[in-house]
Amino acid sequence: MEAFVWDQNFVTGLTQVDEQHQELVNLFNALNDSLFSTDVRREALLEETYRKVIDYTQHHFRDEEQVMRDTGIDARHLEAHQALHAQFVEQLGAIWSQRATLVEHPETIVGFLTSWLGLHILGVDQSMARQIALIRAGVSPAVAFDQETAAHDRATRALIQLVGKLYQVLTLQNTELAKANARLEERVQQRTAELAQSNAELREANERLELFSQTDGLLQIANRGYFDKRLVEACSDAFRSRSPLGLLMIDVDFFKRYNDHYGHQAGDACLKLIAATVSGAMLRGTDLLARYGGEELVVILPDTDWQGTQQVAERVLDAVTALALPHAHSDVAGHVTVSIGGTSRIPSYGTAGEALLTEADAALYRAKEAGRNRVVMAAAEAAGAA
Ligand code: GH3
Ligand code: MG
Ligand code: MG
Repeated sequence: MEAFVWDQNFVTGLTQVDEQHQELVNLFNALNDSLFSTDVRREALLEETYRKVIDYTQHHFRDEEQVMRDTGIDARHLEAHQALHAQFVEQLGAIWSQRATLVEHPETIVGFLTSWLGLHILGVDQSMARQIALIRAGVSPAVAFDQETAAHDRATRALIQLVGKLYQVLTLQNTELAKANARLEERVQQRTAELAQSNAELREANERLELFSQTDGLLQIANRGYFDKRLVEACSDAFRSRSPLGLLMIDVDFFKRYNDHYGHQAGDACLKLIAATVSGAMLRGTDLLARYGGEELVVILPDTDWQGTQQVAERVLDAVTALALPHAHSDVAGHVTVSIGGTSRIPSYGTAGEALLTEADAALYRAKEAGRNRVVMAAAEAAGAA
């Protein structure tokens, strides 16, 4: 289908200009065909044809403007003519960039192109051709320009002015639409970025909240709830991999007397120091220290056998002794000490966590009975170790 049908009225008599106009018409028709094409490569085809239209239009405008300059056409005409060319190129770009948002866009684009070209050739280009013919016949450019303006009868002049105005209104609307589109896109991008930012903040807040809910406020180590959960997980991991799981129960000796003598705040500070010291005695990232309750701490030692567990327990005992925190009312030493009950076993399925806790607790009780400030391990056989 031909969008633009050429007829004799379009001929200006300037050979080069006429040839290029013909070529432009061909390109517009090709663009029209691609716009209505049902080919799967339609988009690529369109993009290519559009590029050609833009390139050729600009090439033609340059040549035509050169012809006018070479002939010495009146500056008033040259300026107005150049302005129209520039405006068309700008409009072509704007329409193309927003073609997706245009209702019935093939009709809109082709309609714009062909109307513009038709109006331009019939009006401004014909006027240019007539002025060039006069100049070549020896008339001065200024006289040729004035004659040209006088030649139109009043009705034609009014008509051309009206169409020109209509075109300007359309142009303005196009530009506004393009700007509004750009602003909208910017807002969408901004909102997307803001949303990503709040998502990241929310994620961080959730992570902080989760950590907070797992941490003991005073000692800044894991709390009882988190310990219970992790013990179950550590037991099933050890059960699956048939590896030993160690457990320590640590209790401060004569801590009630410490509080009574030094005050509850000093007691808090003492507990914090002990927790930090025990934490420092843990060597593996997989070990977990938690507050079991009151002045009692508990340690999970994954993949640690009976001997290994005993070693860690002795290290904890020594580290607390090395703190040398004065304790005037302890029956076992002049400084703060701890008693530790330990155990290690390859967990059996089911009540493994409970069993480990019971054994470690019983061992701790025996450490207290035996005089405190010591490590007592659950019997190797009872703990199922070799
Ligand atoms: P034992 O050697 O037999 O363990 O004697 P103990 O006095 O340490 O044991 P008991 O269980 O009788 O007393 C524990 C004390 O620990 C009592 C309690 O006031 C104190 N305690 C528990 N939690 C805290 C705490 O968060 N801060 C302070 N300052 N004291 C605590
Ligand atoms: Mg105690
Ligand atoms: Mg206690």
